[in-house]
Amino acid sequence: MEQVNGGRASADDEAQILEAIDRWVEREVRPIARKFDQADEYPFDLVEQMKELGLFGATISQEYGGLGLSASCYASLVSRISAVWMAPTGIFNSHLIMAQAVERNGTAEQRQEWLPRFATGELRGGIGLTEPDAGTDLQGIRSTAQRDGDHYLIRGTKTWITNGVHGTCFAVLVKTDPDAEPRHRGMSLFICEKGEGFSVGRKLKKLGYRSIDSAELVFEDFSVPATRLVGGAEGRGFQHAVGGLELGRINVAARGVGLAKGALDDALRYAQQRRTFGKPIAHHQAIQLKLADMATRVEAARLLVEQAARKYDTGVRCDLEAGMAKLFASEAAVANSLEAMRVFGGYSYSVDFDVERYYRDAPLMCIGEGTNEMQRIIIARQLVERFPA
Ligand SMILES: Cc1cc2nc3c(=O)[nH]c(=O)nc-3n(C[C@H](O)[C@H](O)[C@H](O)COP(=O)(O)OP(=O)(O)OC[C@H]3O[C@@H](n4cnc5c(N)ncnc54)[C@H](O)[C@@H]3O)c2cc1C
Repeated sequence: MEQVNGGRASADDEAQILEAIDRWVEREVRPIARKFDQADEYPFDLVEQMKELGLFGATISQEYGGLGLSASCYASLVSRISAVWMAPTGIFNSHLIMAQAVERNGTAEQRQEWLPRFATGELRGGIGLTEPDAGTDLQGIRSTAQRDGDHYLIRGTKTWITNGVHGTCFAVLVKTDPDAEPRHRGMSLFICEKGEGFSVGRKLKKLGYRSIDSAELVFEDFSVPATRLVGGAEGRGFQHAVGGLELGRINVAARGVGLAKGALDDALRYAQQRRTFGKPIAHHQAIQLKLADMATRVEAARLLVEQAARKYDTGVRCDLEAGMAKLFASEAAVANSLEAMRVFGGYSYSVDFDVERYYRDAPLMCIGEGTNEMQRIIIARQLVERFPA
């Protein structure tokens, strides 16, 4: 692939990749989505295909073997897959948040050692922040890493970790100084490959976002070389973790756009096929109002995501835009999935249609990468900062 802009993909490359994704989604993802979701079965074949498509290196620079996609292209790619089945996007997105933490904050040696293996999917995993007693309040985590010669010993439990069962490598947030004030100064991020002392506690059963493994991860005096402390210095882990959430939020927002569009597409088709009182329900005004609102939400959400992604691509701080996109697009997904349920009437309750899956999958987008309550707080804080009275 042509190398431009310091390892970023060209516009032509990006267009080709999006076309390849469209073909893959129709050929491989759509036919299996309903069956795998209902069986909560891990899509091993899709993972192999994702490797071939380069998705595990989608946002990693080309100099490390990635595709070097812009956030704009990445968001579009995620929306296209999510319009058919949202869950598989978590397999590479959580992995790419880990990769991004290393690419943005790691030492030169860490980038050389880890990114090429992440890009091929040889090493796959995700990001371990949340604990049983600390999610939104990340600075309240209790996991620790204690220096032991040229190693650290990690103790603690992480929960809800995407790819926790099938992934083997995770960026894990811990406290290297539990007494530090402010608390974030005592936090560090480590690259942890599964091994003795690092095990899966249990796989979590979920309402939606099925087929993808969410797990509890347990660290019992897990010994990790000091060279795996991201950036090589203690006390920066919170910034590393939170910094990575901008792209994560754009991704969740893109999933919301996709899911909201999937719900609209299905509702629009069904409304023209289903007839009551001698005409298609699409000709009843009550249904028309729903379709119009659903389509408007999709377009508005898409534009917000594009705006956030474009700003991210310029390298400027974009937590306001990413927060707005995440907030609006995830709520659009929830609203559209519920409206699709109403359009489908009794058949919405049938597992023979996809709308019940959209309805179960959509609420996750309001929770992941910072809850929507927190997005509103972030947006308001940014407004005050940018527009002081
Ligand atoms: C399917 C799934 C996959 C996930 N994958 C990952 C993963 O890969 N890695 C990872 O680290 N985590 C992951 N998570 C965890 C997710 O990031 C957290 O669930 C999320 O951050 C919320 O934390 P919590 O569940 O502890 O809720 P809490 O923090 O307990 O919040 C509960 C409620 O209180 C509200 N609230 C909390 N504090 C405030 C405040 N200051 N002001 C206003 N409202 C507030 C919240 O918005 C929410 O409504 C995943 C979760 C799910 C469900």
